[in-house]
Amino acid sequence: MTISLHPEAAAPRHARDTDALEKTALERYVAPAKPSLVGLSRVALAEALAGVGVPPAQVKMRVQQLWHWMYVRGAQSFDAMTSVSKQLRTTLERHFTLVRPEMVAEQVSVDGTRKWLLRLPGERPGEKPHEVECVYIPEADRGTLCLSSQVGCTLSCSFCHTGTQRLVRNLTPGEIVGQIMVARDRLGDWPGADRAQGPGLPTLPAGGEGTGGRFVSNIVMMGMGEPLYNLEAVRDALLVAADGEGLSVSKRRITLSTSGVVPMIARAGAEIGVMLAVSLHAVADALRNELVPLNRKYPIAELLEACRRYPGLSNARRITFEYVMLKGVNDSSADAKALVRLLKGIPAKINLIPFNPWPGTTYECSDWEQIEKFSEIIFNAGYASPVRTPRGRDILAACGQLKSATEKLSARERLALRAMAMTD
Ligand code: SAH
Ligand code: SF4
Repeated sequence: MTISLHPEAAAPRHARDTDALEKTALERYVAPAKPSLVGLSRVALAEALAGVGVPPAQVKMRVQQLWHWMYVRGAQSFDAMTSVSKQLRTTLERHFTLVRPEMVAEQVSVDGTRKWLLRLPGERPGEKPHEVECVYIPEADRGTLCLSSQVGCTLSCSFCHTGTQRLVRNLTPGEIVGQIMVARDRLGDWPGADRAQGPGLPTLPAGGEGTGGRFVSNIVMMGMGEPLYNLEAVRDALLVAADGEGLSVSKRRITLSTSGVVPMIARAGAEIGVMLAVSLHAVADALRNELVPLNRKYPIAELLEACRRYPGLSNARRITFEYVMLKGVNDSSADAKALVRLLKGIPAKINLIPFNPWPGTTYECSDWEQIEKFSEIIFNAGYASPVRTPRGRDILAACGQLKSATEKLSARERLALRAMAMTD
Protein backbone atom coordinates (compact mmCIF):
# COMPACT_ATOMS: atom_id res chain seq x y z
CA MET A 1 0.00 0.00 0.00
CA THR A 2 1.30 3.48 -0.87
CA ILE A 3 0.84 6.24 1.64
CA SER A 4 0.83 9.66 0.03
CA LEU A 5 1.69 12.58 2.23
CA HIS A 6 -1.28 14.88 2.39
CA PRO A 7 -0.57 18.64 2.59
CA GLU A 8 -2.52 18.67 5.85
CA ALA A 9 0.12 16.46 7.39
CA ALA A 10 2.19 19.62 7.76
CA ALA A 11 -0.64 21.49 9.51
CA PRO A 12 -0.24 22.45 13.16
CA ARG A 13 -1.06 19.62 15.52
CA HIS A 14 -4.14 21.15 17.06
CA ALA A 15 -5.70 21.65 13.61
CA ARG A 16 -5.34 17.95 12.85
CA ASP A 17 -6.68 17.06 16.28
CA THR A 18 -9.94 18.85 15.64
CA ASP A 19 -10.27 17.16 12.26
CA ALA A 20 -10.61 13.86 14.06
CA LEU A 21 -13.48 15.04 16.27
CA GLU A 22 -16.26 14.16 13.91
CA LYS A 23 -17.07 10.66 12.75
CA THR A 24 -18.11 10.29 9.15
CA ALA A 25 -21.22 8.50 8.01
CA LEU A 26 -20.61 4.87 7.25
CA GLU A 27 -23.82 4.13 5.49
CA ARG A 28 -26.18 6.02 3.26
CA TYR A 29 -29.93 6.18 3.36
CA VAL A 30 -31.37 4.03 0.63
CA ALA A 31 -34.87 5.22 -0.23
CA PRO A 32 -37.50 2.48 -0.46
CA ALA A 33 -38.90 1.84 -3.93
CA LYS A 34 -42.28 3.13 -2.80
CA PRO A 35 -41.60 6.24 -0.70
CA SER A 36 -43.59 7.25 2.37
CA LEU A 37 -45.35 10.60 2.32
CA VAL A 38 -44.75 11.00 6.06
CA GLY A 39 -42.45 13.92 6.81
CA LEU A 40 -42.60 15.68 3.44
CA SER A 41 -43.01 19.45 3.61
CA ARG A 42 -46.16 20.89 2.03
CA VAL A 43 -44.06 21.93 -0.98
CA ALA A 44 -42.55 18.45 -1.38
CA LEU A 45 -45.97 16.88 -0.95
CA ALA A 46 -47.37 19.14 -3.68
CA GLU A 47 -44.53 18.05 -5.98
CA ALA A 48 -45.18 14.41 -5.20
CA LEU A 49 -48.87 14.79 -6.04
CA ALA A 50 -48.17 16.70 -9.25
CA GLY A 51 -45.71 13.96 -10.16
CA VAL A 52 -48.44 11.31 -10.13
CA GLY A 53 -50.80 13.34 -12.27
CA VAL A 54 -52.90 15.38 -9.83
CA PRO A 55 -54.04 18.38 -11.95
CA PRO A 56 -52.30 21.65 -10.98
CA ALA A 57 -55.57 23.33 -10.04
CA GLN A 58 -56.28 20.59 -7.50
CA VAL A 59 -52.86 20.19 -5.93
CA LYS A 60 -53.27 22.75 -3.14
CA MET A 61 -56.60 21.33 -2.02
CA ARG A 62 -55.30 17.75 -2.12
CA VAL A 63 -52.24 18.71 -0.07
CA GLN A 64 -54.59 20.23 2.49
CA GLN A 65 -56.68 17.05 2.62
CA LEU A 66 -53.71 14.70 2.90
CA TRP A 67 -52.07 16.89 5.53
CA HIS A 68 -55.21 16.71 7.64
CA TRP A 69 -55.57 12.94 7.30
CA MET A 70 -51.92 12.29 8.04
CA TYR A 71 -51.25 14.71 10.86
CA VAL A 72 -54.59 15.45 12.51
CA ARG A 73 -56.25 12.04 12.12
CA GLY A 74 -53.15 9.87 12.01
CA ALA A 75 -54.35 7.88 8.98
CA GLN A 76 -52.21 4.82 8.40
CA SER A 77 -53.69 3.90 5.04
CA PHE A 78 -54.92 5.84 2.03
CA ASP A 79 -58.13 3.85 2.29
CA ALA A 80 -58.99 5.60 5.54
CA MET A 81 -58.99 8.98 3.76
CA THR A 82 -62.68 8.97 3.01
CA SER A 83 -62.87 12.58 1.77
CA VAL A 84 -60.32 11.80 -0.96
CA SER A 85 -61.76 10.40 -4.20
CA LYS A 86 -61.48 6.64 -4.62
CA GLN A 87 -59.53 7.12 -7.83
CA LEU A 88 -56.89 9.31 -6.21
CA ARG A 89 -56.61 6.92 -3.28
CA THR A 90 -55.83 4.13 -5.71
CA THR A 91 -53.21 6.26 -7.46
CA LEU A 92 -51.61 7.21 -4.15
CA GLU A 93 -51.61 3.59 -3.04
CA ARG A 94 -49.80 2.61 -6.24
CA HIS A 95 -46.98 5.13 -5.78
CA PHE A 96 -46.63 5.86 -2.08
CA THR A 97 -47.02 4.57 1.45
CA LEU A 98 -47.70 6.16 4.84
CA VAL A 99 -45.12 3.96 6.46
CA ARG A 100 -43.46 5.02 9.73
CA PRO A 101 -40.31 3.50 11.22
CA GLU A 102 -40.96 -0.07 12.31
CA MET A 103 -41.30 -0.53 16.08
CA VAL A 104 -39.33 -3.64 16.92
CA ALA A 105 -39.27 -3.45 20.71
CA GLU A 106 -40.91 -1.59 23.55
CA GLN A 107 -39.77 -1.29 27.14
CA VAL A 108 -41.91 0.31 29.82
CA SER A 109 -40.16 1.62 32.92
CA VAL A 110 -41.62 1.38 36.40
CA ASP A 111 -42.08 5.17 36.19
CA GLY A 112 -44.12 4.92 32.99
CA THR A 113 -41.33 6.02 30.64
CA ARG A 114 -41.45 4.07 27.40
CA LYS A 115 -38.54 3.37 25.15
CA TRP A 116 -39.06 2.16 21.64
CA LEU A 117 -36.51 0.60 19.37
CA LEU A 118 -37.24 1.61 15.80
CA ARG A 119 -35.88 -0.04 12.68
CA LEU A 120 -35.24 2.12 9.65
CA PRO A 121 -34.87 1.14 6.05
CA GLY A 122 -31.53 1.37 4.37
CA GLU A 123 -29.45 -1.53 5.49
CA ARG A 124 -28.00 -3.73 2.82
CA PRO A 125 -28.20 -7.50 2.84
CA GLY A 126 -25.88 -8.95 5.43
CA GLU A 127 -25.46 -5.63 7.25
CA LYS A 128 -26.65 -4.67 10.68
CA PRO A 129 -30.04 -2.98 10.68
CA HIS A 130 -30.22 0.79 11.11
CA GLU A 131 -31.94 1.39 14.41
CA VAL A 132 -32.70 4.33 16.67
CA GLU A 133 -34.40 4.76 19.98
CA CYS A 134 -37.21 7.11 20.84
CA VAL A 135 -38.34 7.75 24.41
CA TYR A 136 -41.70 8.90 25.79
CA ILE A 137 -41.65 10.58 29.19
CA PRO A 138 -45.10 11.09 30.70
CA GLU A 139 -45.74 13.55 33.52
CA ALA A 140 -48.99 14.63 35.14
CA ASP A 141 -49.48 17.69 32.94
CA ARG A 142 -47.48 16.89 29.82
CA GLY A 143 -46.00 14.13 27.72
CA THR A 144 -42.57 14.65 26.24
CA LEU A 145 -41.23 12.74 23.29
CA CYS A 146 -37.46 12.56 22.98
CA LEU A 147 -36.48 12.15 19.33
CA SER A 148 -33.28 10.94 17.71
CA SER A 149 -31.67 12.80 14.82
CA GLN A 150 -28.96 10.33 13.81
CA VAL A 151 -28.21 6.62 14.00
CA GLY A 152 -25.38 6.93 16.54
CA CYS A 153 -23.75 10.34 16.79
CA THR A 154 -21.18 12.34 14.85
CA LEU A 155 -19.47 13.22 18.14
CA SER A 156 -17.98 11.30 21.05
CA CYS A 157 -18.64 13.05 24.36
CA SER A 158 -16.79 11.06 26.99
CA PHE A 159 -19.74 10.65 29.40
CA CYS A 160 -22.33 9.72 26.75
CA HIS A 161 -23.22 6.18 25.81
CA THR A 162 -24.47 7.17 22.36
CA GLY A 163 -21.08 8.75 21.70
CA THR A 164 -19.41 5.34 21.91
CA GLN A 165 -21.43 4.12 18.95
CA ARG A 166 -20.03 4.49 15.47
CA LEU A 167 -22.09 6.91 13.41
CA VAL A 168 -24.15 5.08 10.88
CA ARG A 169 -26.10 7.85 9.21
CA ASN A 170 -28.31 10.92 9.42
CA LEU A 171 -32.05 10.40 9.68
CA THR A 172 -34.36 11.76 6.98
CA PRO A 173 -37.15 14.22 7.84
CA GLY A 174 -39.60 11.36 7.35
CA GLU A 175 -37.77 9.25 9.90
CA ILE A 176 -37.78 12.09 12.42
CA VAL A 177 -41.47 12.92 11.94
CA GLY A 178 -42.07 9.16 11.76
CA GLN A 179 -40.93 8.86 15.39
CA ILE A 180 -43.77 11.20 16.42
CA MET A 181 -46.26 9.26 14.29
CA VAL A 182 -45.26 5.87 15.61
CA ALA A 183 -45.35 7.14 19.20
CA ARG A 184 -48.83 8.52 18.74
CA ASP A 185 -49.95 5.31 16.99
CA ARG A 186 -48.68 3.27 19.91
CA LEU A 187 -50.23 5.54 22.56
CA GLY A 188 -53.56 5.74 20.75
CA ASP A 189 -52.97 9.48 20.61
CA TRP A 190 -55.25 10.25 17.66
CA PRO A 191 -58.89 11.36 17.71
CA GLY A 192 -61.14 8.35 18.19
CA ALA A 193 -58.29 5.88 18.83
CA ASP A 194 -58.13 3.58 21.85
CA ARG A 195 -56.09 5.49 24.39
CA ALA A 196 -53.11 3.68 25.93
CA GLN A 197 -53.45 2.66 29.56
CA GLY A 198 -50.64 2.34 32.02
CA PRO A 199 -48.69 3.92 34.82
CA GLY A 200 -47.80 7.59 34.81
CA LEU A 201 -49.64 8.72 31.68
CA PRO A 202 -50.73 12.39 31.74
CA THR A 203 -54.31 13.17 32.66
CA LEU A 204 -56.03 14.46 29.61
CA PRO A 205 -58.67 17.08 30.07
CA ALA A 206 -60.22 17.36 26.62
CA GLY A 207 -58.40 20.25 24.95
CA GLY A 208 -56.84 20.93 28.36
CA GLU A 209 -54.21 23.56 29.08
CA GLY A 210 -51.11 21.48 29.50
CA THR A 211 -51.37 18.82 26.87
CA GLY A 212 -53.88 20.18 24.38
CA GLY A 213 -55.67 16.92 25.08
CA ARG A 214 -52.79 14.85 23.68
CA PHE A 215 -50.37 12.39 25.19
CA VAL A 216 -47.53 13.88 23.15
CA SER A 217 -47.54 17.59 24.03
CA ASN A 218 -43.81 18.39 23.96
CA ILE A 219 -40.84 17.38 21.84
CA VAL A 220 -37.16 17.40 22.69
CA MET A 221 -34.40 16.68 20.18
CA MET A 222 -32.34 14.98 22.84
CA GLY A 223 -32.18 11.38 21.74
CA MET A 224 -29.40 9.84 19.71
CA GLY A 225 -27.34 12.16 17.59
CA GLU A 226 -26.29 15.77 17.27
CA PRO A 227 -29.23 17.57 15.61
CA LEU A 228 -27.10 20.42 14.25
CA TYR A 229 -25.04 17.96 12.22
CA ASN A 230 -28.29 17.07 10.48
CA LEU A 231 -29.73 20.56 10.39
CA GLU A 232 -31.77 20.46 7.17
CA ALA A 233 -33.59 17.24 7.99
CA VAL A 234 -34.20 18.31 11.59
CA ARG A 235 -35.48 21.68 10.37
CA ASP A 236 -37.86 20.17 7.84
CA ALA A 237 -39.14 17.66 10.40
CA LEU A 238 -39.67 20.20 13.17
CA LEU A 239 -41.50 22.55 10.83
CA VAL A 240 -43.88 19.69 10.03
CA ALA A 241 -44.29 18.99 13.76
CA ALA A 242 -45.04 22.66 14.50
CA ASP A 243 -47.51 23.14 11.63
CA GLY A 244 -50.68 24.54 13.19
CA GLU A 245 -52.98 22.63 10.82
CA GLY A 246 -51.24 19.32 11.46
CA LEU A 247 -49.35 17.88 14.40
CA SER A 248 -49.54 21.33 15.98
CA VAL A 249 -46.80 21.07 18.58
CA SER A 250 -46.08 24.73 19.34
CA LYS A 251 -42.47 25.88 18.84
CA ARG A 252 -42.45 26.89 22.51
CA ARG A 253 -42.93 23.22 23.32
CA ILE A 254 -40.11 21.99 21.10
CA THR A 255 -36.52 22.09 22.37
CA LEU A 256 -33.45 21.34 20.33
CA SER A 257 -30.36 20.36 22.30
CA THR A 258 -26.88 20.85 20.88
CA SER A 259 -23.44 20.07 22.17
CA GLY A 260 -22.34 23.37 20.63
CA VAL A 261 -22.03 23.29 16.84
CA VAL A 262 -21.43 27.04 16.82
CA PRO A 263 -21.76 27.85 13.09
CA MET A 264 -25.19 26.18 12.97
CA ILE A 265 -26.75 27.86 16.01
CA ALA A 266 -27.83 31.06 14.25
CA ARG A 267 -29.29 29.06 11.37
CA ALA A 268 -31.23 26.85 13.76
CA GLY A 269 -32.73 29.95 15.36
CA ALA A 270 -33.57 31.64 12.07
CA GLU A 271 -34.77 28.61 10.14
CA ILE A 272 -36.48 26.57 12.87
CA GLY A 273 -37.12 28.98 15.75
CA VAL A 274 -37.63 26.41 18.48
CA MET A 275 -36.29 26.60 22.04
CA LEU A 276 -32.56 26.01 22.36
CA ALA A 277 -30.73 23.90 24.91
CA VAL A 278 -26.95 23.84 25.07
CA SER A 279 -24.96 21.03 26.63
CA LEU A 280 -22.39 23.05 28.54
CA HIS A 281 -21.23 20.64 31.28
CA ALA A 282 -18.06 22.55 32.17
CA VAL A 283 -17.03 26.12 32.91
CA ALA A 284 -13.45 26.00 31.62
CA ASP A 285 -12.13 24.94 28.23
CA ALA A 286 -9.62 22.42 29.57
CA LEU A 287 -12.34 20.29 31.16
CA ARG A 288 -14.90 20.87 28.43
CA ASN A 289 -12.32 19.71 25.85
CA GLU A 290 -12.30 16.40 27.68
CA LEU A 291 -16.04 16.02 28.23
CA VAL A 292 -17.29 17.48 24.95
CA PRO A 293 -14.33 17.17 22.55
CA LEU A 294 -16.09 19.44 20.03
CA ASN A 295 -15.05 22.22 22.41
CA ARG A 296 -11.58 22.04 20.90
CA LYS A 297 -13.10 23.33 17.70
CA TYR A 298 -15.66 25.71 19.20
CA PRO A 299 -14.52 26.80 22.67
CA ILE A 300 -16.78 28.14 25.42
CA ALA A 301 -16.38 31.84 24.61
CA GLU A 302 -17.46 31.29 20.98
CA LEU A 303 -20.33 29.09 22.05
CA LEU A 304 -21.67 31.66 24.49
CA GLU A 305 -21.30 34.41 21.91
CA ALA A 306 -23.46 32.39 19.52
CA CYS A 307 -25.97 31.95 22.36
CA ARG A 308 -26.11 35.68 23.02
CA ARG A 309 -26.97 36.16 19.35
CA TYR A 310 -29.60 33.41 19.22
CA PRO A 311 -32.55 34.86 17.30
CA GLY A 312 -35.56 35.59 19.47
CA LEU A 313 -33.67 35.30 22.75
CA SER A 314 -35.46 37.12 25.57
CA ASN A 315 -36.44 36.59 29.18
CA ALA A 316 -39.55 34.85 27.96
CA ARG A 317 -37.51 32.64 25.60
CA ARG A 318 -34.43 31.64 27.51
CA ILE A 319 -31.72 29.23 26.53
CA THR A 320 -31.48 26.14 28.70
CA PHE A 321 -27.94 25.23 29.70
CA GLU A 322 -27.59 21.55 30.49
CA TYR A 323 -25.03 20.54 33.03
CA VAL A 324 -24.43 16.88 33.77
CA MET A 325 -23.37 16.29 37.37
CA LEU A 326 -20.16 14.23 37.42
CA LYS A 327 -18.76 13.36 40.80
CA GLY A 328 -15.46 15.08 41.53
CA VAL A 329 -15.19 16.28 37.93
CA ASN A 330 -17.35 19.36 37.41
CA ASP A 331 -19.50 19.53 40.54
CA SER A 332 -17.61 21.72 43.03
CA SER A 333 -19.14 24.82 44.58
CA ALA A 334 -16.44 26.85 42.79
CA ASP A 335 -17.74 25.39 39.50
CA ALA A 336 -21.27 26.50 40.39
CA LYS A 337 -20.09 30.04 41.09
CA ALA A 338 -18.08 30.12 37.88
CA LEU A 339 -21.14 28.89 35.98
CA VAL A 340 -23.20 31.78 37.28
CA ARG A 341 -20.48 34.26 36.29
CA LEU A 342 -20.12 32.72 32.86
CA LEU A 343 -23.81 32.99 32.00
CA LYS A 344 -24.19 36.55 33.21
CA GLY A 345 -26.23 38.61 30.76
CA ILE A 346 -27.68 35.63 28.87
CA PRO A 347 -31.38 34.94 29.45
CA ALA A 348 -30.84 31.42 30.72
CA LYS A 349 -32.23 28.45 32.58
CA ILE A 350 -29.89 25.89 34.03
CA ASN A 351 -30.78 22.22 34.01
CA LEU A 352 -28.71 20.04 36.28
CA ILE A 353 -28.77 16.47 35.01
CA PRO A 354 -27.69 13.73 37.40
CA PHE A 355 -25.23 11.59 35.43
CA ASN A 356 -26.84 8.41 34.17
CA PRO A 357 -24.29 5.64 34.42
CA TRP A 358 -23.76 3.01 31.77
CA PRO A 359 -21.63 -0.10 31.87
CA GLY A 360 -18.03 0.64 31.11
CA THR A 361 -18.09 4.32 32.05
CA THR A 362 -15.54 5.62 34.51
CA TYR A 363 -17.72 8.56 35.60
CA GLU A 364 -19.97 8.53 38.61
CA CYS A 365 -23.00 10.62 39.44
CA SER A 366 -22.38 13.38 41.97
CA ASP A 367 -23.55 12.80 45.52
CA TRP A 368 -27.01 14.10 46.20
CA GLU A 369 -25.81 16.59 48.83
CA GLN A 370 -23.36 18.07 46.33
CA ILE A 371 -26.06 18.37 43.67
CA GLU A 372 -28.19 20.22 46.22
CA LYS A 373 -25.34 22.53 47.16
CA PHE A 374 -24.60 23.26 43.51
CA SER A 375 -28.25 23.88 42.81
CA GLU A 376 -28.56 26.25 45.77
CA ILE A 377 -25.70 28.44 44.58
CA ILE A 378 -27.38 28.73 41.22
CA PHE A 379 -30.77 29.36 42.78
CA ASN A 380 -29.36 32.10 45.01
CA ALA A 381 -27.93 33.78 41.92
CA GLY A 382 -31.47 34.11 40.59
CA TYR A 383 -31.84 31.04 38.38
CA ALA A 384 -34.49 28.45 38.74
CA SER A 385 -32.30 25.36 38.83
CA PRO A 386 -34.44 22.29 38.54
CA VAL A 387 -32.59 19.06 38.90
CA ARG A 388 -33.88 16.81 36.18
CA THR A 389 -35.16 13.63 37.74
CA PRO A 390 -33.69 10.77 35.80
CA ARG A 391 -36.49 8.94 34.04
CA GLY A 392 -36.50 5.43 32.73
CA ARG A 393 -33.10 4.50 34.15
CA ASP A 394 -34.20 0.89 34.61
CA ILE A 395 -34.74 0.53 30.87
CA LEU A 396 -31.64 2.52 29.82
CA ALA A 397 -33.85 5.28 28.48
CA ALA A 398 -32.36 8.20 30.38
CA CYS A 399 -30.25 10.97 28.82
CA GLY A 400 -27.13 9.68 27.22
CA GLN A 401 -27.94 6.03 27.74
CA LEU A 402 -29.41 5.45 24.33
CA LYS A 403 -27.56 3.11 22.09
CA SER A 404 -29.24 1.03 19.45
CA ALA A 405 -29.54 -2.71 19.69
CA THR A 406 -27.05 -3.01 16.85
CA GLU A 407 -24.56 -2.62 19.64
CA LYS A 408 -26.68 -4.33 22.22
CA LEU A 409 -25.74 -4.70 25.83
CA SER A 410 -25.23 -8.15 27.12
CA ALA A 411 -27.69 -9.37 29.75
CA ARG A 412 -24.91 -9.06 32.29
CA GLU A 413 -24.29 -5.43 31.38
CA ARG A 414 -27.97 -4.69 31.77
CA LEU A 415 -28.03 -6.24 35.20
CA ALA A 416 -24.96 -4.25 36.18
CA LEU A 417 -26.68 -1.11 34.99
CA ARG A 418 -29.85 -1.83 36.89
CA ALA A 419 -27.88 -2.40 40.03
CA MET A 420 -26.15 0.96 39.54
CA ALA A 421 -29.46 2.72 38.96
CA MET A 422 -30.91 1.28 42.12
CA THR A 423 -28.03 2.02 44.41
CA ASP A 424 -27.33 5.67 43.61
N1 SAH B 1 -26.39 15.65 20.98
C1 SAH B 1 -27.18 16.61 21.65
C2 SAH B 1 -28.53 16.07 22.06
C3 SAH B 1 -28.59 14.66 22.63
S1 SAH B 1 -27.91 14.37 24.21
C4 SAH B 1 -26.44 17.18 22.84
O1 SAH B 1 -25.40 16.64 23.18
O2 SAH B 1 -26.90 18.18 23.37
C5 SAH B 1 -29.08 15.08 25.34
C6 SAH B 1 -28.48 15.53 26.67
O3 SAH B 1 -28.09 14.39 27.47
C7 SAH B 1 -27.20 16.36 26.50
O4 SAH B 1 -27.19 17.45 27.38
C8 SAH B 1 -26.15 15.36 26.88
O5 SAH B 1 -24.95 16.00 27.22
C9 SAH B 1 -26.80 14.62 28.01
N2 SAH B 1 -26.17 13.35 28.35
C10 SAH B 1 -25.45 12.55 27.55
N3 SAH B 1 -25.03 11.46 28.24
C11 SAH B 1 -25.51 11.56 29.49
C12 SAH B 1 -25.45 10.73 30.64
N4 SAH B 1 -24.84 9.56 30.61
N5 SAH B 1 -26.08 11.16 31.76
C13 SAH B 1 -26.76 12.33 31.77
N6 SAH B 1 -26.87 13.14 30.71
C14 SAH B 1 -26.25 12.78 29.57
FE1 SF4 C 1 -23.55 13.04 20.67
FE2 SF4 C 1 -24.92 14.58 22.41
FE3 SF4 C 1 -23.91 12.17 23.14
FE4 SF4 C 1 -22.25 14.21 22.69
S1 SF4 C 1 -23.83 14.08 24.30
S2 SF4 C 1 -22.00 12.08 21.95
S3 SF4 C 1 -23.28 15.23 20.99
S4 SF4 C 1 -25.52 12.52 21.63
